Amino acid sequence: MKSLIILGSTGSIGTQALEAAEACGYSVTALAAGSNVSLIEKQARKYKPKIAALFDKEAAKDLKIKLGDTDIKVLSGEEGVCEAAQSEGDMLLNSIVGIAGLLPTLAAIEAGKTIALANKETLVAGGEEVNRKAAAKGVKIIPVDSEHSAIFQSLRGVPANSLKKILLTASGGPFYGKKREELANVTVKEALNHPNWSMGAKITVDSATLMNKGLEVIEAVRLFGVSADNIEVLVHRQSILHSGVELSDGAVIAQLGTPDMRLPIQYALTYPERADNAFERLSLTDVGTLTFEKPDVETFRCLPLCIEAVNRGGLLPAAVNGANEAAVELFLKGKIKFLQIADFVEQALLTTENKPNPSIENILDTDSAVRRQIKSIIR
Ligand code: NDP
Repeated sequence: MKSLIILGSTGSIGTQALEAAEACGYSVTALAAGSNVSLIEKQARKYKPKIAALFDKEAAKDLKIKLGDTDIKVLSGEEGVCEAAQSEGDMLLNSIVGIAGLLPTLAAIEAGKTIALANKETLVAGGEEVNRKAAAKGVKIIPVDSEHSAIFQSLRGVPANSLKKILLTASGGPFYGKKREELANVTVKEALNHPNWSMGAKITVDSATLMNKGLEVIEAVRLFGVSADNIEVLVHRQSILHSGVELSDGAVIAQLGTPDMRLPIQYALTYPERADNAFERLSLTDVGTLTFEKPDVETFRCLPLCIEAVNRGGLLPAAVNGANEAAVELFLKGKIKFLQIADFVEQALLTTENKPNPSIENILDTDSAVRRQIKSIIR
């Protein structure tokens, strides 16, 4: 029986990953999350891991008391989450949200684990350095993000030098078709109302600003070794064609399916095999029409800002990511307007002093600096 460590187990991807792990015959050896004591306790009692870790130290104390009648070791803080990442287990699935996932990913690489990666911020902020460390340790990173999983699947059997272009699809989010003036006063509730996917709050807001697509362009650059110029973003409202590739002879290969994250999660766990399941099947005749359009980059500025960040490289992807995380948090708390998210991302891009080939320490310092700057403006 293969064994799995799940980081971010209490989130949208984490809870689906636990079900996939069970269905695919994995034992779960470690679980980690932020502060959700009641859910991780339930998960720990059901899946019986050896370790349960919480980033929040007070919450971890509480969990330790709650799991006092079991043999489960409770760890706490960032060190605890990283220790869980290095504990016994054949594979690790990282579905922590945000840059908080970076050090645990690096810990898992250090321990030589195969990584199923949903935490895109790891590759956005830490990208080149993460890739270098993974290559040095011979660690395989399997994407869980549906678009990147689709590209990964489309590239199977394709000779390495045949990839010409990546076709990265975007649903367009809840504000598709709207212009800047119409977005000035949109509410948190409206931003959280995604048409096709049910996800955690941060990524749902990122989908509404198209920052998510910007982060995914950077993620694709890191995963597939192409430049952003060779990635075409297509707004595809139906979320059926999850992304694809164009090859040197003009052939286009793509992966299609219903919008259901359980499939890319399962594929990451069974790769390179496939497993049966009872998920809803795609009926192309029911879908009828698939449409593709260019994104509106005048209205949804986060997308071109991310492309500029990855083209200029160095610390800028970490800067735009950190600014976005801080701004989304403020938006969710009702402290800034929707359009200010892009303003803060742009400000970070314009004001961050860049440095080529940054270390992880440089990256984390940049992340903290842009957050401090935003917090100094909005209290
Ligand atoms: P959620 O907000 O639903 O879950 C986030 C998880 O991260 C929770 O388990 C949370 O714990 C945990 N967490 C937060 N901070 C820390 C920390 N400092 N240390 C350890 N754990 C922490 O997010 P999603 O599941 O939606 O997204 C997770 C990642 O997957 C993101 O990077 C997202 O971009 C990516 N992704 C998500 C998709 C989706 O469909 N949801 C699709 C594709 C990619 P707690 O509950 O205790 O706070």
